[in-house]
Amino acid sequence: MTIRHHVSDALLTAYAAGSLPEAFSLVVATHLSLCDDCRARAAALDAVGGRLMEEAAPVALSEGSLAAVMSRLDRRIEVPARPARRADPRAPAPLADYVGGRLQDVRWRALGGGVRQAILPTGGEAIARLLWIPGGQAVPDHGHRGMELTLVLQGAFRDETDRFGPGDLEIADEELEHTPTAEAGIDCICLAATDAPLRFNSFLPKLVQPFFRI
Ligand SMILES: [Zn+2]
Repeated sequence: MTIRHHVSDALLTAYAAGSLPEAFSLVVATHLSLCDDCRARAAALDAVGGRLMEEAAPVALSEGSLAAVMSRLDRRIEVPARPARRADPRAPAPLADYVGGRLQDVRWRALGGGVRQAILPTGGEAIARLLWIPGGQAVPDHGHRGMELTLVLQGAFRDETDRFGPGDLEIADEELEHTPTAEAGIDCICLAATDAPLRFNSFLPKLVQPFFRI
């Protein structure tokens, strides 16, 4: 797949530092599993962290720590067998852990106009959701109070800025007002994360948005 829209340096640095909310981290990690370029950039940032760790002054652990760890390594543990599940090629790791099967079997909720969403179970301040936008359908035009990350898993959408196809990541901030529209022909499925409610310009979405945490 040809990916043209990548993780920004700032976002990748925060990801490497482990300081992103889970929802954003999930979107970045899913892009990394699709994008060789960003995976290489992330590895370089991880190397910086490794170097910092190596150079950090050591702090002594309590006496007996090593023996305590080593003795536990020898203990045999039973790992319960995980039920086999049919993975969905559109939901690569680590998204698969949140979806738990095929995308069409996710519990979707209608948002109107054929657009559906499924909120994923993440902790922290930000919300991660799957969006299913029928081909040719537009999401109501909106602005952002915080950051919105949108990763395309299937199909493509266009907005005022560009076209986003499979693997592409759109990073929207307070500056951007847009009307994402799915390309005709194939339904567009996206993984999106937001850390603040969207700003809708028309009345109806405004009315329903609290119910959908959008
Ligand atoms: Zn990338």
